[in-house]
Amino acid sequence: MSDELSDQIDRLIQKRPIYKNALSIYRDLMSFLREIEPEIQYVMKDEVVHDIKVKEGFPLFSREDLPLDLKAASSLFKRLLEHLTSKKRKDKEALEKTLDRVRTDSNWVKSVITAFLTNDETTIVKMAEKVDLEPMVLKFLTHMALRPSLNTLKESVIEKIQKDSWNYGYCPLCGSSPDMAYLGEEGKRFLHCELCGYEWYYPRLKCPFCENDEPKKLGYFESEEEEGFRVDFCKKCNRYIKTLDMRVIEAPAPLELENLITLHLDMLAHDQGFKNPQS
Ligand SMILES: [Zn+2]
Ligand SMILES: [Zn+2]
Repeated sequence: MSDELSDQIDRLIQKRPIYKNALSIYRDLMSFLREIEPEIQYVMKDEVVHDIKVKEGFPLFSREDLPLDLKAASSLFKRLLEHLTSKKRKDKEALEKTLDRVRTDSNWVKSVITAFLTNDETTIVKMAEKVDLEPMVLKFLTHMALRPSLNTLKESVIEKIQKDSWNYGYCPLCGSSPDMAYLGEEGKRFLHCELCGYEWYYPRLKCPFCENDEPKKLGYFESEEEEGFRVDFCKKCNRYIKTLDMRVIEAPAPLELENLITLHLDMLAHDQGFKNPQS
């Protein structure tokens, strides 16, 4: 992890102390991943990249059959658990139980990864309950374990993405929904993929989830605590997306991290009857 990100996390902990725990875990796992990066063997089949047929309106892959190295992800999942259980943590026992499960049943991680990639929330919740983990923690660990594979995939296919003609609310690379949005230069809106982290342009006055573009049924509210943070919602499908105005926010954190430390905005959105973007 870069020192810059580490310093930024220090600043964020001061600014938003309620997220101290989440921020510390993120920092810890990021630096661990960086440390072991050279050891992670990732296999990317060349023919996968060559065989991509670009079809209009279709993402390059679908979430369920992304050409990811699941073996590498499974072994990384175990290493992340070994690393976390060596630390003092509130959920240490649950993590140890999970590690036990992983060590005794090699199919367990594969099932978690499959459930995660197919958005099978019921299975994730059941599997998390069995090892006493919060479903959110289980999902976070799975995502982290897939990260190097996702990054390699992204790097190898990025040139094939139809950047200019892509105007859909789902990711052109993996077909997933966005988890965050940001307003960049000239107020243009970009969406951030919840799975692979790819970012793409999307009109501001249009709901990415149901494509509603009636101005009367679209709106947003702003965070009272921090300038530049807002929630855009759609009254047609009742979904929302957290949006960062990069023209206003000083030194924003990576969007995947901002997503973890803006749960208060999710709560405000839920209070107003809006649903999770992914549900
Ligand atoms: Zn994606
Ligand atoms: Zn909508």
